[in-house]
Amino acid sequence: MTSRFQTVLLFGAPGSGKGTQGKILGNIPGFYHLSCGEVFRTLDTSSEVGKTFIEFSSKGLLVPDDATVKMWHQNMQARTILSSYKPNVDLLVLDGIPRNVNQAKLLEKHLQVLQIIHLVCPDKEEMIKRLQKRALKENRIDDAKEEVIRKRWDVYEEETFPVLKYYPKNTVKEVDATGSPARVLEQILECVVPIQETHFSNALSGE
Ligand code: ADP
Repeated sequence: MTSRFQTVLLFGAPGSGKGTQGKILGNIPGFYHLSCGEVFRTLDTSSEVGKTFIEFSSKGLLVPDDATVKMWHQNMQARTILSSYKPNVDLLVLDGIPRNVNQAKLLEKHLQVLQIIHLVCPDKEEMIKRLQKRALKENRIDDAKEEVIRKRWDVYEEETFPVLKYYPKNTVKEVDATGSPARVLEQILECVVPIQETHFSNALSGE
């Protein structure tokens, strides 16, 4: 049991701010953030898995589960070996994985999911606008076309949303994603700081 990574999942629709919040959390000692989409985007696009990523993400579709979980696990092992992620010191904050119930099952042997932060965004059109703005700034092929964004939303509703039901209800905390980044962060911290303190010693003092 103890060899599984102690984990918090950031969960929410495309554009809900998982990446923004994850990055902030990842800068706090004792937290380690990994975005699955970001790992995919850093792959060599001429590699097999890199080509698979482009093929699926450009259509707004999920990369097949086996390739995703394998790529994720290899990446985590590399980070662990290099000690950038220290499983005994850091609470892992994952965003973008698991993206469907099958991935959640495949990850069971690797993760102990302590908490799920569900970033709730009631206004779909508002989120779609956020994604279009980000696509312009960050050169994201998957968000450049409105039809691809809408497809990503469909995939979220059909495949990703049911992941919430896979985990025990008392592990899910709902957070309103429409507030300012600082306000959203405040609510997330309220939930995850006690978890980090319960499961780990103080990352700075070692106490
Ligand atoms: P966002 O955070 O905007 O929802 P991501 O950066 O997480 O988007 O993901 C971008 C694309 O990468 C997805 O549309 C999908 O094609 C692929 N991807 C990322 N994570 C996964 C995953 N866990 N399973 C399958 N595909 C994924």
